[in-house]
Amino acid sequence: MPIYEYVCQDCNAHFEVIRSMKDADEPIACQECHSVEHIKRMLSVFVATSGGQTITGSSPSCDGCSGGSCASCHS
Ligand SMILES: [Zn+2]
Repeated sequence: MPIYEYVCQDCNAHFEVIRSMKDADEPIACQECHSVEHIKRMLSVFVATSGGQTITGSSPSCDGCSGGSCASCHS
C-alpha cells in the first residue's frame, strides 16, 4: 500500500500515513492537533512495491506528449 504524506496547515505538522489509494483523498486528522480542516496531501512521489517490482507514483511523460497528461500516459 502506498505511503501518503500530509501536511497540516494549522500546526505545520508533517505526517505519513499508509492507506489504500481509494482512501487517499478521504479526510484525515492531524496527528498533532487533530484538525481535519486544513490537511493537505503532499504531491510527493510514493513508492509501492508489488511482487518485487517497484512502481513509482510520479507522472512520467510518454513519447506522445511532453506534459505527462495525455491518454497514453495513464494506462
Ligand atoms: Zn495540525
